[in-house]
Amino acid sequence: MKIILMGPPGAGKGTQAEVLTKELNIPHISTGDMFRKAIKEGTPLGVEAKRYIDSGKLVPDEVTVGIVKERLAEPDCQAGFLLDGFPRTVPQADALENTLNELRMKLDKVINIVVKREALLKRLTGRRVCKGCGATYHVVFKPSQKGDQCEQCGGELYQRSDDSEAVVANRLNVYEQQTAPLIEYYQAKGLLLNIEGSDSVEEVTRKILQALGRE
Ligand code: ADP
Ligand code: AMP
Repeated sequence: MKIILMGPPGAGKGTQAEVLTKELNIPHISTGDMFRKAIKEGTPLGVEAKRYIDSGKLVPDEVTVGIVKERLAEPDCQAGFLLDGFPRTVPQADALENTLNELRMKLDKVINIVVKREALLKRLTGRRVCKGCGATYHVVFKPSQKGDQCEQCGGELYQRSDDSEAVVANRLNVYEQQTAPLIEYYQAKGLLLNIEGSDSVEEVTRKILQALGRE
């Protein structure tokens, strides 16, 4: 199955992707995770991406499209994939379409997780991420049973630098201006499935799997 998981920052894309990719047995392609890995490793891509990520801006389309194109051409994507956080602009969506045509692939569905802005602010500022395996927690909604350590790998939990209140506000504005137009874009292609995302993690997963015809 070839799917895109869309929605504003904090909608629960990464959280749902962890479960869905296991359930559907497909690779999880998160451009945000790819950039954070590059930043950690200090590669030229990381140095460039950091300039934008720290202020909540989008990394330029040429850079982002390039890394996704390379990733989709890898053999493990042949049978399916879940894109999380990409595309985020109309030019990225057009580039994705071209890439998939070149690879003779077709998108099955675009899942749009819908959550109100006030809830997004709470989710983002309380988010904690494992330094080791990248698992996502929340200080109130999904605390780790091991305190400051990851339940899965024992790694240290940290707050992303772009989850500060000031940067979060900017990211939500960038979403409204540059990413929200993709809702109509995919609606027009008949691929969009809107999923209400303010319920529990388990309930949102159930609704997505049901909408995909997997339950
Ligand atoms: P995204 O990848 O869309 O930015 P995340 O999956 O990282 O969002 O989720 C943002 C924060 O909200 C995380 O701290 C996560 O634990 C929490 N969260 C995700 N889904 C839910 C949910 N259904 N209810 C409450 N909190 C949630
Ligand atoms: P995320 O982990 O999806 O919240 O992404 C974190 C940050 O990485 C974003 O705020 C952007 O700066 C950058 N980023 C991730 N995906 C993209 C994308 N598709 N296009 C441009 N920038 C992106």
